[in-house]
Amino acid sequence: MSIQEQISLKPYNSFHCECIASHFAIITKAAELKEALDWCMLHKKPFIVMGGGSNMLFTQDIDALVLKMEVKGIQKTNETSSEVFLTVGAGENWHHFVSYTIQKSWGGIENLSLIPGTVGASPIQNIGAYGVEAKDTIQSVTAYDTQKQEWVTLSNHDCAFEYRNSIFKKEKNRYIIWSVQFCLQKQPHFHIEYGAIREKLHEKQIKYPNLAAIANAVIQIRSEKLPDPNIIGNAGSFFKNPIVDKAQFEKLKAQYPNLVAYPISDQAYKLAAGWLIEAAGWKGKKIGDIGCYEKQALVIVNYGTGTGKEIFDFSAQIIQSIHEKFGVVIEREVNVY
Ligand code: FAD
Ligand code: NAP
Repeated sequence: MSIQEQISLKPYNSFHCECIASHFAIITKAAELKEALDWCMLHKKPFIVMGGGSNMLFTQDIDALVLKMEVKGIQKTNETSSEVFLTVGAGENWHHFVSYTIQKSWGGIENLSLIPGTVGASPIQNIGAYGVEAKDTIQSVTAYDTQKQEWVTLSNHDCAFEYRNSIFKKEKNRYIIWSVQFCLQKQPHFHIEYGAIREKLHEKQIKYPNLAAIANAVIQIRSEKLPDPNIIGNAGSFFKNPIVDKAQFEKLKAQYPNLVAYPISDQAYKLAAGWLIEAAGWKGKKIGDIGCYEKQALVIVNYGTGTGKEIFDFSAQIIQSIHEKFGVVIEREVNVY
């Protein structure tokens, strides 16, 4: 394993922000990880783990060893008449993995098509889209626990998955995810309750969808609505949808009848952060090279040479404006460094 010095992370993050890492190593084998962690210990340097860099915002240069996870492999470990169990290396590309499962007719993650990044990052924020979350199919996660200094396998329950959250995000930098174990279905139950999927299937005159039809619908919707990070710098949704109690929801709904919200329990509602941001007048707004995407207000984009600090400051202005207008605090989903 070679540790490189003074490496630009611009090619490795989907915002395309310039950031110099003092040290950088690509990890493909357990022995390389051990060597890298030993090096950190010896040189008293912290480390930062990186997958595809599609959910990381670098606001300053990094004085740490960046570990870029490129552990590969998809292995079938077990199979029953109804289920298939797979162990997938952290460095596998998420969308390639989803495409592979669809090709094999194994269901469960088709709604998560075209999400950028790696399999190893999928448990971190429990990636989700169109009513499906990674936690619905993750059986366990194998990781190196840097606190206990040992390899561990965390069950789905141990991962403490929540909406865009998990133990891995709460205990930042404790676990280095090596592989993820998935359980997929041979006779899947489809999730087509989100309006956009139903409309797309209707538009394509598909009455009885299969896995490929759902994945293609998702791919098409996303391609039409979201900026391609290869062309315009972005990290998808910059903010999480805020959760408010019933009283606050009812007060807001009375004031803003078009408010988009979904009940998540008897007493709590999820507000569409994109709606709040658009209603506060941010959609399509630009400051220098940074903007609020014109087709989806939840996405902050870097149209050129904007810096991570500028993106962070832009997001702070949005947070403040939403608080002033609606009395709601929206939180960043993107990992800020
Ligand atoms: P990175 O950005 O490299 O890392 C993200 C975080 O995970 C960092 O804190 C990093 O330290 C940590 N990490 C990464 N790999 C490991 C590992 N092996 N072990 C320990 N820690 C690790 N997200 C959704 O949930 N749903 C969506 O629909 C969605 N759509 C998106 C659309 C676009 C256009 C873009 C650009 C992003 C979107 N995202 C979405 C966000 C992003 O794709 C996901 O968060 C994805 O899981 C990030 O993967 P990554 O490999 O790029 O992670
Ligand atoms: P959308 O369909 O316009 O919906 C707006 C918001 O309303 C979404 O955030 C979604 O919440 C919620 N919603 C819509 N229909 C719902 C239903 N039937 N039940 C419960 N909640 C519902 O959203 P979009 O921006 O085009 O994104 C589509 C999906 O892709 C969403 O699930 C979104 O989370 C996901 N996505 C995520 C990212 C990211 O970076 N995290 C980026 C792009 C898209 P949820 O977000 O909770 O689903």
